[in-house]
Amino acid sequence: MVHFVGAGPGAPDLITLRGAELLKTADVVIYAGSLVNPALLALCPAGCEIHNSAEMTLEQVLSVMEPAERAGKSTVRLHTGDPCLYGAIREQMDALDALGIPYDDTPGVSSFCGAAAAARAEYTLPGVSQSVVITRMAGRTPVPERESIAAWAAHGASMAIFLSAGMLEGLQAELLKGGCAPATPAALVYKATWPEEQVVRCTVGALAASGREHGISKTALVLVGNFLDPDYQRSKLYDPSFATGFREASR
Ligand code: SAH
Repeated sequence: MVHFVGAGPGAPDLITLRGAELLKTADVVIYAGSLVNPALLALCPAGCEIHNSAEMTLEQVLSVMEPAERAGKSTVRLHTGDPCLYGAIREQMDALDALGIPYDDTPGVSSFCGAAAAARAEYTLPGVSQSVVITRMAGRTPVPERESIAAWAAHGASMAIFLSAGMLEGLQAELLKGGCAPATPAALVYKATWPEEQVVRCTVGALAASGREHGISKTALVLVGNFLDPDYQRSKLYDPSFATGFREASR
């Protein structure tokens, strides 16, 4: 069987208990070497066959999975963060379906959660925003026009922008084009939860300059929105005058 596993954002103790158990009992591991912390591979048993998918095509990945399955082995396909975001797992699952190979998926802590933790931030603040847009700039992989950064920026929702730290000039221009005020708070979060983690707070108008100044051009998330501002309303859930299914309101 093939197990897709989310490795988490970097710190090796942020993998789930289930993911760690699957690594400990794996015969074959194919890990996304560009972003998965190699320290996680220390969990693999002696003799485990390890492949770095950063150097492989989809066909090569499948050519490792197929004989492993025929030999009755357990294969872990280790993706960074959670596999459901920019993980290219759908094409692997479809190919496994076609080959009749069973698989399952163990979620992980996505880097947008790791980045919020690093920035000590909450995306969903009452009176500020109750939605998070997870998106990216168009690069070699296109993004549908209706999902352009400018289109999302017009909503004023909290944004976690992946795969775009190398395009900060363009990103800044798109955000401004969409109506983001230049003073809108932003943060560049580099390698969230890794020892070299860096949180650079700035504004949308200073995104590109801040990236240049701190030498951040990859392995970073760009957070944008007023949720990074100190101003918000407190939650209804913990308000004494607000009754919930678990608690009566006081007067
Ligand atoms: N599935 C992953 C995302 C893979 S796409 C997840 O759920 O997080 C790769 C992009 O994720 C990188 O370009 C970067 O924007 C972001 N990323 C991954 N790990 C990160 C980390 N530790 N800190 C900041 N950004 C990270």
